[in-house]
Amino acid sequence: NGSLHEVDPDVAAAVDAELHRQQSTLEMIASENFAPVAAMEAQGSVLTNKYAEGYPGRRYYGGCEYVDVVEDLARDRIKALFGAESANVQPHSGAQANAAAMFALLKPGDTILGLDLAHGGHLTHGMKINFSGKLYNVAAYKVDENTGRIDMEEVERLAKEHRPQLIIAGWSAYPRQLDFAAFRRVADEVGALLMVDMAHFAGLVAAGLHPSPVPYADVVTTTTHKTLGGPRGGVILSKKEHAKKINSAVFPGQQGGPLEHVIAAKAVAFKIAASEEFKERQRRTLSGARILAERLLRQDAVDAGVSVLSGGTDVHLVLVDLRNSELDGQQAEDRLHDIGITVNRNAVPNDPRPPMVTSGLRIGTPALATRGFTDEDFTEVADVIAEALLPTFDEEKGKALAARVSALAAKHPLYPTLGK
Ligand code: PLP
Repeated sequence: NGSLHEVDPDVAAAVDAELHRQQSTLEMIASENFAPVAAMEAQGSVLTNKYAEGYPGRRYYGGCEYVDVVEDLARDRIKALFGAESANVQPHSGAQANAAAMFALLKPGDTILGLDLAHGGHLTHGMKINFSGKLYNVAAYKVDENTGRIDMEEVERLAKEHRPQLIIAGWSAYPRQLDFAAFRRVADEVGALLMVDMAHFAGLVAAGLHPSPVPYADVVTTTTHKTLGGPRGGVILSKKEHAKKINSAVFPGQQGGPLEHVIAAKAVAFKIAASEEFKERQRRTLSGARILAERLLRQDAVDAGVSVLSGGTDVHLVLVDLRNSELDGQQAEDRLHDIGITVNRNAVPNDPRPPMVTSGLRIGTPALATRGFTDEDFTEVADVIAEALLPTFDEEKGKALAARVSALAAKHPLYPTLGK
């Protein structure tokens, strides 16, 4: 019963080092966030010990009276948060939520129509060597080359050509809002079901700052750890008519025992997501991304070939287009890493560089907004990033930018009560 430091100093040292990394650098990976201490406390609790196959009130194990309370809280809270008819909070991750939803709605060999991976879609939306690409026949829509946006007429054309059983709307790297009503119309026209994967923008939807897919989609999947700001995990929301099939697709279809300690942390995160403080944070997330897009388009950066896909953003991320820049995605990611800003390189549509190098960066604001960043702070971080991407960057400039990054990190302490 010793502490982590006593029992396993090697793991403890790595955890401490990771805490220090998160505290001392600026996290701008668009899919990351900082879970609340209360959620981490729930996740690190004795609930990790409990087997609870089944659902509240219908378990295959004894002793589930308290985990039932927790899972009911999580389900009720997320249903209320999004106005959903039914919720399954057991998927261990976003990928497993998608796998279970498709397992419930489709037969192997059915056709799905989703956003191409190279144009911002997710692996689970039909990538060749993912389960979705192996089990189902895949058709994919792309973003328009000129506007960088999804063209609903093209989606409609492809739907009519391929007659999918399921249309998937949702993305991992796309800077604009989707037209859910138009997706619904297209799905109805070809007799397809509509699944929306709102993993990236669920927090914005919860705050009322992004249209909700829930009224339009048969099934809505999400992760709980991106803009939603909770523990790593997945959720499936659905219309009542699909609930039974979805529940049996998650368990016993895809998973065994649910992670009740994670479900407890999800419940905490959903409570927080209904608060005024959460809304205010999502507002800062959006305005930070807008500031970032605007300031990256300064003249000297544009002259150096730096651009922003679709010309801006409506969401929590900006996609930097480096196709015309000497700097590739890998070099840009490394340069920002060296001054203390963490982002990920990302292929842009029709990327001329190989997938391990890429010509883009995906930069997100959710984690810094959680850290308390204001418009003024986002302006400073945007200027630091823009300067780091200029051809005039050298070692000395790098040192000065790293000092500005450290000052921002010091201004907004992260997890001040941890690691003491
Ligand atoms: N769906 C979308 C749109 C995502 O962006 C991601 C994660 O990147 C996932 C699903 C998968 O989530 P997880 O990594 O929890 O499996």
